[in-house]
Amino acid sequence: MRIPIAAGNWKMNKTVAEASAYAEALLQELDTPGVEVIICPPFTSLYALSQKFAGSSVKLGAQNMHWELKGAFTGEISGSMLLELGCEYVILGHSERRHIFRETAEEVGKKVETALKLGLRPILCVGETLEERERGETEAILAYQLEKGIEGITTFPNVESIVIAYEPVWAIGTGKAATPQDAQEAIAFVRGKLSEQFGSEKAQQIRILYGGSVSPENVGQFVNQEDIDGTLVGGASLDAGKFLDIIKETA
Ligand code: PGA
Repeated sequence: MRIPIAAGNWKMNKTVAEASAYAEALLQELDTPGVEVIICPPFTSLYALSQKFAGSSVKLGAQNMHWELKGAFTGEISGSMLLELGCEYVILGHSERRHIFRETAEEVGKKVETALKLGLRPILCVGETLEERERGETEAILAYQLEKGIEGITTFPNVESIVIAYEPVWAIGTGKAATPQDAQEAIAFVRGKLSEQFGSEKAQQIRILYGGSVSPENVGQFVNQEDIDGTLVGGASLDAGKFLDIIKETA
């Protein structure tokens, strides 16, 4: 059985002090065994949160990393640095990285390969823009981003530890979530592709999340879908109370 995930992507929000206060509020109320809770703060709060979450069930994730382990890459952070800080997960290929920072599908693939080699679990994000959806290209885009994203790991023994997040770009931060049926359809398509690559047994073990304007009100409809194993939450994860509601609805 796939254990459902509630993952919070804080993006460029919260200082260390704000992150620490949030962690305390979360831990005080958190009582939801059966849901894997992952918090992905900015790099600057990882150390403080690893101290706060030590001994709890909350997992820590980063929002990006470089594919090289060290070297002359000013401003970058490596996977080994993240591991030492207590990260278990790393979001890779988020649409804001792809569109604002021009990350290519190939670069995302190199990051996925390095992460998995290190034992960091990638949360690989894929998703189409509104124009692509309207042109009927959703499946082609998902297939392309997925293919490039997992290209380097097809022979790895631990591929099932990867997580995929289907995040339609038009649903991110817009308040306009996909319908649960559209999300299920896209995610079932992704699982089919994973099955072609890794075989159905592995594909059945890989968690696939929905992301894009998830709220306490709509999360239940997503996690009730057959192939949707949880959510990647931006805006609504910034409020500990709202995120706790999302976690409860995920159980
Ligand atoms: P949102 O962001 O929940 O604010 O739409 C989701 C994401 O970008 O992961």
